[in-house]
Formats: sequence, C-alpha cells, structure tokens
Amino acid sequence: NRGVGSWPARRARMSPHRVALVHVRREWTFADVSGRSTRLAYVLRERGVRAGDRVAFLGPNRPEFLETMFAAGLLGAVFVPLNTRLAVPELATIVADCGATALVHSSEHADAAAALGVADPIAAPYEAVLAAAPTAPLDEPVDPADPCLLLYTSGTTGRPKGVVLTHANLAWNAFNLLLDVDLTADEVALVSAPMFHVAALNQTVLPTFLKGGRSVLVPRFDPAGSLRLIATHGVTLMFGVPAMFQTIAACDEWAGADLSTVRTLMCGGAPVPESLIATYHRRGLTFLQGYGMTEAAPGVLFLRAEESRRRAGSAGTAVFFGDVRVVRPDGTDVAPDEPGEILVRGPNVSPGYWNRPDDTAAAFDGDGWFHSGDVAVVDGDGFAHVRDRIKDMIISGGENIYPAEVEDALSGHPDVAECAVIGVPDDRWGEVGRAVVVPRTGSTVDPAQVLAFLDGRIARYKIPKSVVLTETLPRTASGKVLKSRLRTTHGEETT
Ligand code: AMP
Ligand code: MG
Repeated sequence: NRGVGSWPARRARMSPHRVALVHVRREWTFADVSGRSTRLAYVLRERGVRAGDRVAFLGPNRPEFLETMFAAGLLGAVFVPLNTRLAVPELATIVADCGATALVHSSEHADAAAALGVADPIAAPYEAVLAAAPTAPLDEPVDPADPCLLLYTSGTTGRPKGVVLTHANLAWNAFNLLLDVDLTADEVALVSAPMFHVAALNQTVLPTFLKGGRSVLVPRFDPAGSLRLIATHGVTLMFGVPAMFQTIAACDEWAGADLSTVRTLMCGGAPVPESLIATYHRRGLTFLQGYGMTEAAPGVLFLRAEESRRRAGSAGTAVFFGDVRVVRPDGTDVAPDEPGEILVRGPNVSPGYWNRPDDTAAAFDGDGWFHSGDVAVVDGDGFAHVRDRIKDMIISGGENIYPAEVEDALSGHPDVAECAVIGVPDDRWGEVGRAVVVPRTGSTVDPAQVLAFLDGRIARYKIPKSVVLTETLPRTASGKVLKSRLRTTHGEETT
C-alpha cells in the first residue's frame, strides 16, 4: 500500500509513542492511530467495503474522522467527509451522487445519518466495534494514482460535484507545504477549522502527521477558546480562514493572551485583508497567506515567512512542485500588473470531478491546467495578488456559497417570480449573501418569511442575510442576469 492509508503504520514505525492526536484531554499516539485505523478497516471490509467503494463520514473534528480516512485508504476505498453545516436534503444529494455504501458518524449527527439511506451506519465513538476487530497489518494494493478523497463543492450550476483527490495529490500537497513551512516533529497544530474542508486537513493535519507532530482537534471553533487552547497546549501552528483570525483578534482575551509558543499562522480560503495581516504582525507573529482551492488539494500560491512582511497582501509565488500561469481570455500570458485568470498545474491537482465528464472538461484543459476562475495580477518581482473572482461565488466566513443553488431554492417559493443572489461586503464574514427578489404579480413578499422558507432546504450559512425587492432584474440580451449591475445598484453594505 503506497497510499495515505499506509501513513499511520509508516509513522508508527518511526515514532510509535509520540502523540499524534489530542482531543478533549485525551491523547492518541501514532501506534494508537495505526492500530485503530487497521481495526476499523477490518470492520469496513467485513461490511463489504472494497477498493474503489465510497466511505462517508459525518461529524466534527475528532480522531474518528482521520481513522475513517486512513481505514478507507487501507482498503483502497474513497473517503467522503461531509460538511456538517449542510441541510439533510443537501447531504442526501451528495451521498446519492457518490453512492456511499458505508457511513461513520458522530453521535450528535445520528438523526441526519439515519436519513441518508446508507445501511447500518457506524456511530463514533465506536470503541465496542473496534475492540472486536483484528489487528494484524493489512496490505491491500493501493496505487498513488488511485482516488483517496472526494470533497464536494457546489459550483456555478448549483449542482454539487465531488472533487476527486488521489493519494498522490495529498502526498504532493504535503511535500509542497513542508518545503514552504519549516514544520518540525515538535509541531503542535491547532485544528479548529473543519477538516471536511481541504485546508484544515491537507495544509495542517496531514503535513504535521507526516513530520511526527501532534494535532489538537477542536470540534467547534471559538475565538476565546482558541486563545485558551494555544496557551494550554503550547500551540505552534494554526490554519484559519480570514473570518476566524478576525474574530480572534477582536475578542476580549486577545490583548492579554499568551501567544509565545506560536511560530506559524497560515491564512487563506478567502481574500485576506491587509489590516488583518497588520494586526497579527503588530503582535510579532508570523502570519502567512496561502491561496488555493479544493481542486489543487489545495496549495497553489504561498507567501513564505521571509517575505511575509515586505510583501504583506500578496499571496506569494507558486508552491515548489506547482506551475502557475496568469492568462488573458485568449490564453496568452499577461504582462506584469495586468489582470488575468489563474491557471494551475502540478502533481497536487485533481484528475477531475466525480462522474462529471462535462464539468471536468470545462475546468481542466487537455494540457493539465486547471482553470481557477480567480483573477490575479503578478507584480514585476513575480509576486501574485489575488484580485477578484470570475466565477459567481460568495465566500462568507470561509464557506463558499454558489448563488445558483440559493436561487434554485428561492425560486421554489410561491410568491417569488424571479430572483438573484449577490454578495455584499460584511465586516465580520467578509461577504454575506443578499437576495434580490421580483415578487409574482399580485403577491406581496415578506422578506422574513422568504428567508424562513429556506431554513432546512439549504444550509444556514447559505441563507441570504437580507432581501431586497425590485420590479425587474437587469439582463443581458441572451437573458443572463447582470450580476455586476445588481452589485452596483443593490450591493451597499447595509440596508
Ligand atoms: P474552495 O472551494 O473552498 O477550495 O475555495 C477556493 C476559492 O477560495 C478560490 O478559488 C478563491 O476564490 C478563494 N481563495 C482561496 N484562497 C484565497 C486567497 N488567499 N485570497 C483570495 N481568495 C482566495
Ligand atoms: Mg473556501
């Protein structure tokens, strides 16, 4: 087995007794993680899971999340972590799309898990199930090019699609990160961003794990709690989206917090305001910006520590084994300071979307370049600044919202004739959604009631924060809503 499933056993061979995971005052060594993942693999195999099958997980950051991933990896099965913030119908769509035949879930998600139609889900903590399983090493043939992880993102069409990441994609992303950041075996990573998103898992937990460091798994992000955990555990490393670092710096405990052990803070997943970077620099902290996306597992651009002050605001240069181009619509390279679309290629880049040949062909070209839909400029020294998005996407507190999906749900309301969802600036979340609604003739639309209608149909974070009523939507000749015009006319920060 040359896949991610073999990592615990390989690491346990080198440092069996070092602590790998910490969760609510309990610790698991590398030997523990290896043994438990092996037992769980036997349990899954006993239940019929074979190479290529999909194994889903629904729950917050906790050891079972990683054990399920490693167990699936030991069998050559594909791990599908589900976003716990999604509504049940959204989760069901994903489980059906990937055809998961096994599901592990935490006890607080039992109701949702039962509604997903996977036979006989396994509840975490699953100590009794593990205790009965064999412990002999498992060695199934797994190739680095095999799929390892399936991460769902919605996309501009509103239909969720699974990004396939191979074992090799995860390994190369970890190598890139280890070349960009000097992680050591004494690393203590605070993992409070959800691991069902690519960055917490691949930019923090897995590289730390490979080096033999420990990851402190936090089920739910809380700003003051993060500062406490940093002091208690002597945290050296943390990844967060901008909204997390904003709320940490805004909480009462910030001024007096002991941050003396922190060596590296990594921020990305959404535009990183320069004022935020300055706040952390004023505390003497190394605050690094990375730019990436699920399709690149995720690292694409990284601003290394030695440049982080002089180039603050830049997302840096390409990761070691990655190639990045910034191009005009005709595919030619831009000149310095000229905006263009970011393309990325490399051993960390996904082979495509799960069972979506058309979406795959639209985003991944024949020469191996993934078209990001993001706009950047590159300065004369080769440092990139991410400017804008071509794709119609809102990033609210690090969660992506695809307007098409929200518009779909809104259109199901009997009083809504037409609607469009745009992002508006927000101090706390970066952006929040706003619905611009044309009421059906003869109906009156009550904004609060329209928003209540969405509850349970789509995830809470996707529900717009405000509704604006209008008589018509501006459209192009071909009938497409002119979002840019709407953002000008209806995009003010407060209503
Ligand atoms: P995801 O689907 O969560 O992987 O989100 C990827 C998207 O987040 C990218 O395509 C960008 O639009 C955005 N993003 C990630 N990192 C940055 C960054 N450092 N600056 C600006 N936008 C970013
Ligand atoms: Mg994101």
